[in-house]
Amino acid sequence: MSAPYQGRCNCGAVTVTITAEPAATRQCWCRQCQKIAAGGPTNNAMFRTDAVTVTGERGEYAYVASSGNTLTQEFCTVCGSGVLGRSSARPQFRTIRLGLLDEAHGLRPGMAIWTEEAPEWATIDPQMERWPQQPPPPASTA
Ligand SMILES: [Zn+2]
Ligand SMILES: [Zn+2]
Repeated sequence: MSAPYQGRCNCGAVTVTITAEPAATRQCWCRQCQKIAAGGPTNNAMFRTDAVTVTGERGEYAYVASSGNTLTQEFCTVCGSGVLGRSSARPQFRTIRLGLLDEAHGLRPGMAIWTEEAPEWATIDPQMERWPQQPPPPASTA
């Protein structure tokens, strides 16, 4: 599939529409993501902020990540599904959880990051580019 992408949380209170292709897709194994993702990685797509429209009530939680940036995670206040992340270092992007998107979105993570924090049982696709910590940011597309 290609843009526009549609998505919703488990209960449907939060919906998202995205009108552009992602600037990057990533699988993150950092410890904070393991807490969001039940012990595994989060799988995410970074979209230009101006291409993302979210409706519905979200709660948010901000913390200083291993990268040193302040990350704000938004989640559905009804069902708790992760919706998106915002980084203080990159306000031009929103990081959308792939699980939020409707089935058949066709996106897959292109790189695995923070692999040095992955649990020893983790299986990481050898096809994916790997970064032990934070990779350089993707180029901003106009
Ligand atoms: Zn929900
Ligand atoms: Zn992470």
